Amino acid sequence: MSNFVWCHGPSCHKSHTQDRIRGVKGSKVLRTKKVPQHAWNSGDRFNMSSYFCSQGCYNDFANTYVREVIAIAPRTEALETPIEVTKEQVQYGWREGTYTNTRITTVDNNGG
Ligand SMILES: [Zn+2]
Repeated sequence: MSNFVWCHGPSCHKSHTQDRIRGVKGSKVLRTKKVPQHAWNSGDRFNMSSYFCSQGCYNDFANTYVREVIAIAPRTEALETPIEVTKEQVQYGWREGTYTNTRITTVDNNGG
């Protein structure tokens, strides 16, 4: 495995699994896992699977560094998406009745 990154999970090297055991008898260690880089998680397709061996390691990282991550793009006020709401009566079955369907349509205020 030549193309890999080390898992960024802060506690990856503390999980008791056989595939993390390295070294010889008397000096064995649990080692951080390698994350292989494939076409679907490298190049211009980087994603969380590029840096973490598992969802658990990703969660550990996100929970440990959440303040730093949020500092990259803090949300200080709510965002809004302009919409139009329309109600329509939809008949179901044969003479069984109707229900009201609510349709939400995004309004593009920028033309196009
Ligand atoms: Zn890991």
